[in-house]
Amino acid sequence: MKIPNGQQIIEEFEKWSPKYLAMEGDPIGLHVGTLNKKVERVLVTLDVDEAVVDEAISKRAELIIAHHPPIFRPLKNLQTDFPQGRLMEKLIKHDIAVYAAHTNLDVAEGGVNDLLAQALGLQNTDILVQTYEAELVKIAVFVPESHEDQLRDALGKAGAGAIGDYEHCSYTLSGTGRFRPTADADPYIGESGKMEVTEESKIEVVVRKADKDRVIRAMIAAHPYEEVAYDVFTLENKELPMGLGRVGTLSEEMTLRNFAELVKEKLDVPFARMVGNGEDKVKKVAVLGGDGNKYISQAKRSGADVYVTGDMYFHTAQDAQAIGLNIIDPGHHVEKVMIRGVAEYMAKHTKLQCEFIASEVDTEPFRII
Ligand SMILES: [Zn+2]
Repeated sequence: MKIPNGQQIIEEFEKWSPKYLAMEGDPIGLHVGTLNKKVERVLVTLDVDEAVVDEAISKRAELIIAHHPPIFRPLKNLQTDFPQGRLMEKLIKHDIAVYAAHTNLDVAEGGVNDLLAQALGLQNTDILVQTYEAELVKIAVFVPESHEDQLRDALGKAGAGAIGDYEHCSYTLSGTGRFRPTADADPYIGESGKMEVTEESKIEVVVRKADKDRVIRAMIAAHPYEEVAYDVFTLENKELPMGLGRVGTLSEEMTLRNFAELVKEKLDVPFARMVGNGEDKVKKVAVLGGDGNKYISQAKRSGADVYVTGDMYFHTAQDAQAIGLNIIDPGHHVEKVMIRGVAEYMAKHTKLQCEFIASEVDTEPFRII
């Protein structure tokens, strides 16, 4: 098997965690370097700091996949006397590319929030905050039977017919096509001025509206006719909604205090902050990786007995208390669950000749004293 280039690796990654799932303005994607090079080793990390770059150098990784974008706010300069400039200089000198998958990886199925929910043992999980719902269209195209396979293949490769865990889905009907080429036509079948009757198939595929133009281009390129006959229908049905955070249930009810202990153990953190009465009973749990201050009312509305999220502000904690929402704040660093999660997912789901290495650097800035 050939060593992939960075572009192939990211294409595989984005099948799982596509860019369109990200929140508006989130600076995701390639941050440093190029994907136009061979990549044998990818280092997966939560953050990119100097220790992580040193680790990438020592492990000879050519690409870093990070959750937190290293250039979050636009840089005003690249002075190498300052930490961020130095970091960029080191990455470029060692030809290490950095790709960031932030809120798109939070939303993705099996991404950060699902990994957190799994770590806590939540069952029957649902989305906490819906952020994305793809609009769908249906494309029906008419093609001579001889070119059915070629066309179905091109449609599938362009992303048409992706339904849940299935791809290349289509439906084909046989029928009769009729047309008369004019004097100016250069027909694939038939002659100018003569009525033509031919066996044709109608192929139907479902396509995300965002992919429609790309699919139509691929369809026309793979079709033998000079003028391709096709219809595009707007659909009322939507894809399953996607979003941030998860809500699910524990296998057994426990006290809030015991649940806080479970959070510490399962998410591997030395401490957690708790809002609420330690003797309260907890069964339904909402979890949202990173900073979940904005979503306390959604957590309350979901019916959760407790909301697990990081970076809780003093006043948000007071608001939660006032609406009777228990909170466990284990810190933002619990998102480190993505390091192993992404490395294992990519190794399992892609057939690339490339190693995915989980970073061993601890980027948690807080220490308990
Ligand atoms: Zn985060």
